[in-house]
Amino acid sequence: MLRKVIATTAVLGLAAGCAPDSSAPVKVSALVLASNGEYTPQEVELKTISDIVGLSGNVADLHGGARIVLDSNDPDLQNATTPEAFANAVLKDSGRDVTASYITQNGVLWPADFHTWNMVTTYYNLERAFDYFHDVTNIPTADFGDPVRTYYFPEFVLVDVDKDPIKDNAMYFSANASFLILPFDQLQRAPLAINAGIIAHEYSHRVFNLKVYDAQPFPIPLSNWATGGPSPGANILKSFDEGLADLHAYGSTCRSKHGCDTRFLSTSFHGKFDSVADDRDLARTDRCMTESLRDNLLNMSLDQFSGYEYLVGTLLASALYQAGEATGQRDVLLRSIVAAYDDETIATPGLQQLARQHNSDQTKFTLAVAAGAIITHVTDLRLKEAVCNELMDHLQIPRDLLVGTSNPNLCPASAAGGNTCPALPTEG
Ligand SMILES: [Zn+2]
Repeated sequence: MLRKVIATTAVLGLAAGCAPDSSAPVKVSALVLASNGEYTPQEVELKTISDIVGLSGNVADLHGGARIVLDSNDPDLQNATTPEAFANAVLKDSGRDVTASYITQNGVLWPADFHTWNMVTTYYNLERAFDYFHDVTNIPTADFGDPVRTYYFPEFVLVDVDKDPIKDNAMYFSANASFLILPFDQLQRAPLAINAGIIAHEYSHRVFNLKVYDAQPFPIPLSNWATGGPSPGANILKSFDEGLADLHAYGSTCRSKHGCDTRFLSTSFHGKFDSVADDRDLARTDRCMTESLRDNLLNMSLDQFSGYEYLVGTLLASALYQAGEATGQRDVLLRSIVAAYDDETIATPGLQQLARQHNSDQTKFTLAVAAGAIITHVTDLRLKEAVCNELMDHLQIPRDLLVGTSNPNLCPASAAGGNTCPALPTEG
């Protein structure tokens, strides 16, 4: 697919090149998922760009050629005692501004090489993710913070895991508040940066960090709770972060030409990777908390739990998805979820406040408590009831933890749960 696009550009490349006008909005051609399911060059507008060659603007700032190394034996890292020192220690080379090149055609900038296609599309996708959180979930512009440093194709090495740089991944790296768009290897059909849903997923992690963790590079509840023993509170926060990232990514696809897509991962993860898209397809209605997954959530350390956060996260996300769709209140729900991240109101504390409140005893930061933050921020009664029912059913949160007078009375008495999932035995 990409090779075909590049060939197309080479033909158009006969047009004369000139120094592009940088002031926003800028009309460019980017790779966008069309209604037929193919990524095709489409004319789009970058509204926040200030430097079209260096690809920087109010939303993001792309940097190439960086080298980031995490090595537990690295003396620089061992000596790092502050978040800033840690960020400096892992950043072995901060790289430099990227240089995009274009051909101008009828007032539209056409990327002149593969990396320009990939980088312009990355910036465009980040801008759309920003727009989604601004327009749909009502986050004020001032809350987004500085443009996000976005390391494009950095060398990213987790020495303790693998000596070779990681490929085929994209991530939000809270330690230095940046996105990493890693080089691709296996995933060539739609490299992750081209997939707007995946970029929205990563952007959701940044929003979660800004709101739930107050932009901390090393979130306090995670550091305090991940002490090597069972870390149920940290495991729940990680699960919410992952699941809600998929749900918001889905929400952002609803604003695209291609339309709402619960399997947004599938254009990147296909063939032998099909299961990734299936496992996280939000439209599947038969997912249930199992006894063993619940045991893992409650008893594993954060390290041991690695990977399971996607399973619990998908349970949460697909349950919420069903509630939003069944009531026709998708955007209202997505907005309520973001409102639940950070709220100092005594009667309706956010996830940040609840994590802080239970800082000294993470066993009190339960699924019911974390889900409660979302439930209290849903004001419409019908939607609230649907959310309660789905969470009781798929996450197997006991009804008496959400309904009744011995608790904050999170759910209406009319919420009875559901019957998709078999009832789990009481926690032992
Ligand atoms: Zn994620």
